[in-house]
Amino acid sequence: MPTIPLLQYPNPRLRNKAKPVSSVHAPEIQKIIYDMLETLAQTENCAALAATQLDLLNPPAITVINNPDPNSSLAPLCLINPQIVEASGECTDVEGCMSVYPDQIKGKVKRAQKIKVKALNQKGQLLEIEAEDFLARCLQHEIDHLQGIIYLDHLSPLKRKLVEKKISHLKNLAKKKVDI
Ligand code: ZN
Repeated sequence: MPTIPLLQYPNPRLRNKAKPVSSVHAPEIQKIIYDMLETLAQTENCAALAATQLDLLNPPAITVINNPDPNSSLAPLCLINPQIVEASGECTDVEGCMSVYPDQIKGKVKRAQKIKVKALNQKGQLLEIEAEDFLARCLQHEIDHLQGIIYLDHLSPLKRKLVEKKISHLKNLAKKKVDI
């Protein structure tokens, strides 16, 4: 089963904006959806993925999201051309990202507490999702990715500086390991 490699920060391709999908049924789009769902399933501790995080040429505006309820038998959500149409409330919580040293780097991000998202599913049907708390945070994080925004961009300048320092330290450590 094909999985797609994840891009790692600070790869500049994480800043690419996703291309809106004009034809959900196009074979290349259906293949990317299939491979993204497979990649989500095969990546440990992964809540969601956006196409712009993956090693894809011209990533389309697609995100796949696991159901936040671990007891749910519902299949992961696939959202195409997702757009936030309503947002309310505020909530600050810790986030991490599969593309930014997920085991080592976390940061507190302020997001809307409740949102409404419109998107298409993989069959091309229009979906309207109302989400709160964790799922709302997850959707905002992924929709940011599709616009080339990483959660680190929401940190205060001071916190951002500290995180960048830690990342360059982690990068040096990785380099040393390779040298040995
Ligand atoms: Zn992320």
